[in-house]
Amino acid sequence: MRDSPGKHTPYFELLEAQDKPGCPICRMINRATDRYLDSLLYEAVLDPDVRAKTKATHGFCADHVEMLGERPGRALGIALIYRDIIRAAADAADRPTPPSGKLLDTLRGKNRPGALAADSLRHDQACPACLIGREAEVNYTSLMLAHIEDPEFHAAYAAGEGICLPHLIAVLERAGTEEEVRAIVGPQVVRYRHMLSELDEFIRKRDHRFRHEPMGEEGDVWLRAMNAVVGGAGWGLTARSGGRRTNPLER
Ligand SMILES: [Zn+2]
Ligand SMILES: [Zn+2]
Repeated sequence: MRDSPGKHTPYFELLEAQDKPGCPICRMINRATDRYLDSLLYEAVLDPDVRAKTKATHGFCADHVEMLGERPGRALGIALIYRDIIRAAADAADRPTPPSGKLLDTLRGKNRPGALAADSLRHDQACPACLIGREAEVNYTSLMLAHIEDPEFHAAYAAGEGICLPHLIAVLERAGTEEEVRAIVGPQVVRYRHMLSELDEFIRKRDHRFRHEPMGEEGDVWLRAMNAVVGGAGWGLTARSGGRRTNPLER
């Protein structure tokens, strides 16, 4: 067992998340991005430098825009950020875009009027909330691994919903010893085997000969199987929490 780092708030949050619907790592990433967006939107109202940054990234990606739609309390910050972006887009689209004059650009089609106009609207910077999410992903996969052999943590992990397939891969990629691999994989394989029996049962009951049999806990396993493979905060993995999404910030 490697030296366990001290147990601080992130550890206890990750421990607590084992028992909640969906992958605990996805949940913690969601929480970290939500906290970041909350303070960013607050600052955006007061600080034009913050808005200069979000203007350069064209705000946020589609996933985080969806997340922001659930944050009506920060609507002013969002309006200020997107006013800057929409204004810049209107100005750029309205501005004549002269060809570069370079033969190579002409040969590559970069001097076509449409390509020039498209270029003036394009940006190449990552969504800032995604960057925070990636950082949180690294931190929480490392934290999970650092404590996986700790009896208290391992018991919570074994009894919990389990991790999504992308995070199973991410944690395993960092595992250095056989014991760590076993501690991660063991409970997860048990969960996969159980899910497989639920899928078999679901499929059996869809056969016309057995259609009269009522569905049990396996009734929404088709949803939970997708959640298990793709991940996502609050998307349930066991019959206990169900396959529909519960708000990961509420429970
Ligand atoms: Zn996950
Ligand atoms: Zn994003």
